[in-house]
Amino acid sequence: MLDSGTHDVIVIGAGAAGTTAATVLHEAGHRVLCLEARTRVGGRLLSEPVDGGVLDLGATWFWPGEQRVAALAARTGAEVFDQHLAGDAVLHDRSGVHRYPGNMIDVPSYRFAAGAQRLTSALASSLPPGAVLPDTPVTAIRPAGADGVDVHAAGRAFRATQVVVAVPPALALERIDFAGALPDDLIRLARSTPVWMGAVAKVVARYSTAFWREDGLAGAAFSRVGPLQEIHDMSGVDGRPAALFGFAHARTVRPGFEAAVVAQLVACFGPAAAPEAVYVQDWSRETWTAPRSVHALSDYSFFGHDLYQRPFLDGRLHWASTETATEYAGHIEGALHSGERAARAVLSATAHGRGLPLS
Ligand SMILES: Cc1cc2nc3c(=O)[nH]c(=O)nc-3n(C[C@H](O)[C@H](O)[C@H](O)COP(=O)(O)OP(=O)(O)OC[C@H]3O[C@@H](n4cnc5c(N)ncnc54)[C@H](O)[C@@H]3O)c2cc1C
Repeated sequence: MLDSGTHDVIVIGAGAAGTTAATVLHEAGHRVLCLEARTRVGGRLLSEPVDGGVLDLGATWFWPGEQRVAALAARTGAEVFDQHLAGDAVLHDRSGVHRYPGNMIDVPSYRFAAGAQRLTSALASSLPPGAVLPDTPVTAIRPAGADGVDVHAAGRAFRATQVVVAVPPALALERIDFAGALPDDLIRLARSTPVWMGAVAKVVARYSTAFWREDGLAGAAFSRVGPLQEIHDMSGVDGRPAALFGFAHARTVRPGFEAAVVAQLVACFGPAAAPEAVYVQDWSRETWTAPRSVHALSDYSFFGHDLYQRPFLDGRLHWASTETATEYAGHIEGALHSGERAARAVLSATAHGRGLPLS
């Protein structure tokens, strides 16, 4: 049975791509409903509140030239600051720990003072009340002929004339039943497209102070001994909250993992590097990020594929998500780019009669 109310556009997923698409479409005058599987918005933007600030357990940085992110931060009033670069770098291999003058590991980049997730929270909260439905995983999409598309989620059904799928394609194909309505080449492509950082664990170590800065270290290390391959300073503005972070292959997250991380940090930065707390965010175990195939997907040349730029279901279904972006794919910037592109495709389709209001 159809849920009460009709929508011009349903956006599936309230990550950076979905909230961007929903915002552009709302501002263009469309009635938009954004269905989100998690109980929160942000997707791979995840900011954990801690004493004195937040710690980003998903995306951390954006880089010079990423104009959409910079513009969104400005528009939403999100304070940004420079990534800490000053100090010496550490290389850690089986021969020992070697200190090198200067920081050849980090590149200039920017951070979000209140965390990256704030970008999507701000976009979602500027939509009309009820426009984002959390805790509503989409399970099926069914063409409804000239009437549009039916979207089934959490025991309810919604109808819209246009749908934006702002979910990593491989995950969408695994979790959403498209009733055989997608062509084989698109299905093959989507099932083969990696999920950016989907097989990675982000590990954040929290401290009372950024002690390494006092020792003239940048907090940056490349390490070949231990679970973390690279380590960076992830402290907040003026060093608070103080934190280091690193990435590990999700497959290495096994019993003993945290102890191995602490041993590695102490080896690189000395005894003071035994943290107050360790946060392990294993993205491969996130039901709404990683498909079961996540470890097997490795061909990044599928990112931004031509097929993702085309509409399907008789011009009513459009792809977004950073994996579909033709620019900056993988980054937040790519997610914003893909959301804008999908919104433009909806606007173009509606201008050609595919999105006449349902009521
Ligand atoms: C550890 C890590 C570090 C990163 N570091 C950086 C960085 O420093 N800089 C940078 O630019 N990028 C970074 N990235 C990448 C960046 O986070 C992503 O590019 C961006 O957040 C992707 O946004 P998205 O909207 O495309 O996808 P997602 O954020 O994955 O959003 C998809 C949304 O869809 C929802 N969803 C999924 N399935 C369904 C369903 N069936 N029904 C309804 N909703 C559904 C999900 O819950 C999610 O909210 C990092 C990512 C990770 C994981």
